[in-house]
This record gives sequence, C-alpha cells and structure tokens, in this order.
Amino acid sequence: MSARRFLSIGECMVELSQAGDGLLRKGFAGDTFNTAWYARACLAADWSVDYFTALGDDAMSDEMVAFIDKSGIGTSLIRRIRGRTPGLYMINLKDGERSFSYWRDNSAARSLAADPDRVREAVESADVVYFSGITLAILPREDAATLLAEIRRAKAAGKLVVFDPNIRPRLWASYDVMHTTISEGARSSVLVMPSFDDEAAHFGDDSIDATIHRYKALGAVNIVVKNGADGVRLNFAGEETFVPAEKVKKVVDTTSAGDSFNGAFLSRYLETGDAPAAARFAAGVAARVVSEHGALVVKEKLGLSGGR
Ligand code: ADP
Repeated sequence: MSARRFLSIGECMVELSQAGDGLLRKGFAGDTFNTAWYARACLAADWSVDYFTALGDDAMSDEMVAFIDKSGIGTSLIRRIRGRTPGLYMINLKDGERSFSYWRDNSAARSLAADPDRVREAVESADVVYFSGITLAILPREDAATLLAEIRRAKAAGKLVVFDPNIRPRLWASYDVMHTTISEGARSSVLVMPSFDDEAAHFGDDSIDATIHRYKALGAVNIVVKNGADGVRLNFAGEETFVPAEKVKKVVDTTSAGDSFNGAFLSRYLETGDAPAAARFAAGVAARVVSEHGALVVKEKLGLSGGR
C-alpha cells in the first residue's frame, strides 16, 4: 500500500509544569501537535504523520525537533529560523486550580507561513491537512491569508481538510478579526470539529444545532461538535448522529481532551470512513486522556491494543 501523509500545521510550545518543591518539569505540547501525537498513536503504520511549524536554531528548538521525531512524527517540513526560539507556557497550580502563563508573542512558529513556497510544498505533499483557530491566530494577517489560500487549494483538489476552531480570544487582535478569520478557516475546510462551549461563548450559539447550522452555511461539508462529558453530535453530509462520552471514574486533567478526540477520530475515520464508529473510538481514547495527567498520554495507556 502506498504511504499516505497526515499533515498537522501549528505551534508546539515548551511546557513547564509544577513538579513539587518549586521544581519545574519540562515538556512539549500545543493543540495541533497534540492531535498529531494521537493521530500517530492510532493510525496504521502505512500513514506518516508530519508536523509543519517553524522553530529557531537554539538548543530548545533542537530538543523539540528531537522529541517530535522520537514520537514518530515527521520533522522534515519544519522551518528553522536563525535567532528565533520556541514559544513557552507554564501551568500554575494554586489551591487545585490551574492557570496558564504564556511567552509566545515572538515565537518562531508565528513565522511558519512566511515563506509561501514552503507552505505550498508542505500542503501539496499531504493527503490530509489539519489546522486550528490557534494556527490562524498566531500568524500575521498576510501569512494567515497565504496559509488559507493553500488550504483552499487542497480542498479544491479533493483532500480532506480538517479545522478545529479552538477559539482563544486572547490570541486575536479583536473579536471582529477572530470571527472573520475563523469563519474563513471553516469555509476553507471539509470537516470542522468545534467544541460547543467555545462556540456558545464566542459566537453566541444557543444550541448545538446553531453551531452546526452556522458552519454548514459557511460551506463545511461535515461537522463534529464536541460537548465534553455530554458527548458529540456528528453531521456528516446532512446525516445526524449523537455519540455519548464514556464514563470516567475520576477526571484528573482535561488538557487535550478535544485534541486527542480529534486525532483518534480522524485515524479511524480515515481508515474506515465510518464517522459514528470513529467517534465511539475517539470517546474511548479521550476518556483515557482525561483520566491521566498531561496533554500527551503514551500509547500504552490509551487501551489501543484491543481496538485495532
Ligand atoms: P475541548 O477539550 O476541545 O473543550 P471537550 O471538552 O468537548 O473538548 O472534550 C472532547 C471529548 O473528550 C469529548 O467529546 C469526550 O469524548 C471527552 N471528554 C471530555 N471531558 C470528559 C469527561 N468529563 N468525561 C468523559 N469524557 C470526556
């Protein structure tokens, strides 16, 4: 069977989390990278998973590339920019509540689409293209337009283009730019995978139907609306299905619940074309992810052995 390529586009950051006694633990994470991680864990070996981003030429960028590579994710498309560094965030814990501090304003990833030829080469090399509202939010406006133009070409060429709006108002210059650009991302895609709480909070949707209707009107063909412990609603070529979440004994950390759901869903959907079955599989993977600490849960803990 010929190799097929899943390409995820966005920013992976250095993550610092509390390790007790004032010590910090270093990791690497970011929404589109997390989805690539779970796609890699769940996809068959005849798929390659590649990450498209930009990094610097410092030791931390080298370490991140080595980590991505060790995760089985291709790094050959990653752009390295002299004098730049990766973005960084810290997870703070106070009285059991998590909060996040970010240092990403000048991260190398903001330049990931600055070279149109490289964007074209990467998108053309892929069978499936995955990106998010965060990918679009971190780019200068003209680079977001470059990326979206290539993504529209991929859609027109019949590729599966997948978009998670992942709405983060703090990353956008204004609500107006955010609404316009996220809508453009959805319009350029085949499959849109929003989280209902974000859509309700930032687009004012009063129901899941409203979210589905809005993205359909923009031209998305298929939609998966995630709704936390309340499961997901699928609308595939107009056909609606509800898939419940799996019961979790103890929710430990919901970081990356949506990202892992997307990666697991896509892996199954790409192999079988059966969206409801893919959503049931993804609900199982996401349930395991929220039962463990951290964004990236290793394959051995995802209960995949019986699933294939
Ligand atoms: P996001 O992280 O993007 O906000 P959601 O919170 O909707 O995404 O979660 C994505 C998926 O993760 C859900 O569809 C569900 O399968 C799973 N999930 C999230 N929270 C829970 C939970 N408390 N119990 C069981 N599954 C959950």
